[in-house]
Amino acid sequence: MPELPEVETYRRYFEETCLFQPIANLFVEDRKLLTTDYDTLLVGLRDRSFIGTKRVGKNLFVQLDGLPDGESSDGLTAPWLHLHFGMTGDLAYFRDVEDTPRFARILFFFQNGFKLAFICPRKFERVGLIDTPEAYLLRKKIGKDGLEISVEELAEKFRRKAAPIKPVLMDQATVAGLGNWIVDEVLFQARLHPERRANNLTPDEVARLHGAIQLVLTTAITQEAQYSRFPTSFLIHAREWDSSPYPEANAHRSCPACRGELTVKQVGGRTTYFCGACQG
Ligand SMILES: [Zn+2]
Repeated sequence: MPELPEVETYRRYFEETCLFQPIANLFVEDRKLLTTDYDTLLVGLRDRSFIGTKRVGKNLFVQLDGLPDGESSDGLTAPWLHLHFGMTGDLAYFRDVEDTPRFARILFFFQNGFKLAFICPRKFERVGLIDTPEAYLLRKKIGKDGLEISVEELAEKFRRKAAPIKPVLMDQATVAGLGNWIVDEVLFQARLHPERRANNLTPDEVARLHGAIQLVLTTAITQEAQYSRFPTSFLIHAREWDSSPYPEANAHRSCPACRGELTVKQVGGRTTYFCGACQG
């Protein structure tokens, strides 16, 4: 599933390829992928250009030219496009029709002859126009991005939450973009047990957690979400993956720090890996 690091990689790719090129047309194979009806979307995009991007958690926002931020004069136009990558979404920018990727269910045609494919293999992806990212995030109750939140803001979020820290961190209203494996890695790097109560963490522990969020996210983004390239001190190598893209990693299930056996159990309804000794 595309997590924050993958979506940040897509955002950078989008910036490098798609900005400042007027849009000529739009192809949508399955209109269920749209959160704005097709005709409105086409009117909103045609002859406009993408001029900038913003990412919050797993949400990519792309600004369109032509209208000042937040002003929607006729109700038919909006200055931002929102993309959500669902379980398997991806982007590809290309010119020749024969290079069209599989599952390119949405295509943006630029006037310069290039195309942007929104690749949607399992159709959980979504695209639509919104007024502003801020209004969208407020409506969807999505908190600050994992890379943006301050240690004070994080402490404030934990203050009244008596739930275990793992589901609290996975709640997008607490902090945006931390999925299952990322939270396990963050808690391992911070040496905190996933079942610790959020409101029982000491200021020092919250600071350690905040530092671990930054470490895990920046490492993942630097490695362009190629998890096999992560440092050997990371827990991720010990995970058992459903689809097993890293079979070599499944061989060792021991803690990268103490070499003890890892615990695998359900916490907050999700499969959780941790080291009972290091995260006691
Ligand atoms: Zn350990």
